[in-house]
Amino acid sequence: MFYKSTRNSDVNVTSAQAIAQGISEDGGLFVPSEIPAISLDDIKALGEKSYAERALFIFSKYLTDYTEAEIRYCVEGAYNTKNFDTENIAELAHLFDGTYMLELWHGPTCAFKDMALQILPYLLTTAIKKINLDKKVVILVATSGDTGKAALEGFKDVPGTEILVFYPDNGVSAMQKKQMTTQEGENVGVCAIKGNFDDAQNGVKAIFTNKEIGEKLSENGMMFSSANSINWGRLAPQIIYYVSSYAQLVKDGEIEAGEKINIVVPTGNFGNILAGYYAKHMGVPVNKLICASNANNVLTDFLTTGIYDRNRPFHATISPSMDILISSNLERLLYHLSGGNDAQIREWFGALAASGKYEVSDDVKTMLRDEFYAGCCDDTQTKATIKEYYDKYSYTCDTHTAVAVKVYEDYVKATGDKTKTVIASTASPYKFSGSVLSALGNTADCDEFGLVEELAKVSNIPVPASLAALKDKEIRFTKVIDKTEMKDFVFNSLYVK
Ligand SMILES: *Cc1c(COP(=O)(O)O)cnc(C)c1O
Repeated sequence: MFYKSTRNSDVNVTSAQAIAQGISEDGGLFVPSEIPAISLDDIKALGEKSYAERALFIFSKYLTDYTEAEIRYCVEGAYNTKNFDTENIAELAHLFDGTYMLELWHGPTCAFKDMALQILPYLLTTAIKKINLDKKVVILVATSGDTGKAALEGFKDVPGTEILVFYPDNGVSAMQKKQMTTQEGENVGVCAIKGNFDDAQNGVKAIFTNKEIGEKLSENGMMFSSANSINWGRLAPQIIYYVSSYAQLVKDGEIEAGEKINIVVPTGNFGNILAGYYAKHMGVPVNKLICASNANNVLTDFLTTGIYDRNRPFHATISPSMDILISSNLERLLYHLSGGNDAQIREWFGALAASGKYEVSDDVKTMLRDEFYAGCCDDTQTKATIKEYYDKYSYTCDTHTAVAVKVYEDYVKATGDKTKTVIASTASPYKFSGSVLSALGNTADCDEFGLVEELAKVSNIPVPASLAALKDKEIRFTKVIDKTEMKDFVFNSLYVK
């Protein structure tokens, strides 16, 4: 298995190379040259295995240049009960008949990013050894709140690595900010920027692809890599939980082997739902992939009209991890749907960079409508949904998951589809206690830890120990910079002259 760049099909690298590098030199994203197939028998067999064993099986299809022992070392280091508060790693909760919550937030930072960022440091450091790169790896991260903390937690004090995280100053929740600014570790740096997530992501991408900066770094014995979902090492681990949840539903007798399911995903950068697309095309029986957006509904419009247009107001919502107008991973999907047409991708994404807009071909539009359903909701609807599900099912959703739940409700109303459905639950409600409490009609006026205590009184979910522990931690990072100062911050942090 080789990996190609979405912007140059002549690029052909191993998975280790793709993971070490993060993004292709031409600015394209690495994609597998083909999507490996698994059979229903394979899936049934996975039902009998642990999450780590399921991961081993799926990774072995994608990381064909890693030995079995190397993959085993990675999955066992990541997917265990030291890092996750449940043996199943990803939990499947029954919401009501035929509707399941895939809880992806049982890791150390309480968001689904842990599913990939607990293993990425293992995959990356193994890759560096495999390709004999004698360089320190500098991980640059742009975060809308959850990736930053999950990456910091994954990479802290990992030998041979350094990690720098940029987050939008006014674009994260109080708890998310606390999680990042109190981060421990000798190889970590955190900085707020005056701007939104797209500014942070554009800044990081520009640093990555700037030749001069890269050469300077190289002279100093370092290289960049990425822990954002532009890195294949972030995306591959996300495929596992979709395969795993299907295998689990079959094992539990909830579905017949071969029966199709819908997958609903609260979406921002399009990484999580794209992992669902890969799972489907590997052989997991999937009917619709349902893409749920908040008021930043650029994807809803794109998936229904085929026109991507980021020229619109940016809304700061109560689901901040989805406040994104440039969804990077769409580039991977369009590369696959256009049959690996790199010239086409260069044209579309060139137009996006130049004018913020592109329109895909009629063929691709048809495929998009076939594979996806898309919908969106605003903050008022999100809050009403949290209240409704709390009252009806005693289930406390976080603000992101509630967007998915609402869009799924709308989908069922519009289509009458009775296909059994898995909804990706992407964060613990405790990460967004203030908004969740306000949705439940509690207007307690206290700091983020007081809010956690309030939520604990009404929710039947135990308070995650990692969040409670933040209360006594010292704030280490307070810097706020202009988005034009990101490069200087990086060089200063790394002592690059
Ligand atoms: C990152 C994130 C999302 C969006 O996921 P993408 O892969 O960027 O589409 C949704 N919900 C939460 C809680 C997140 O942290």
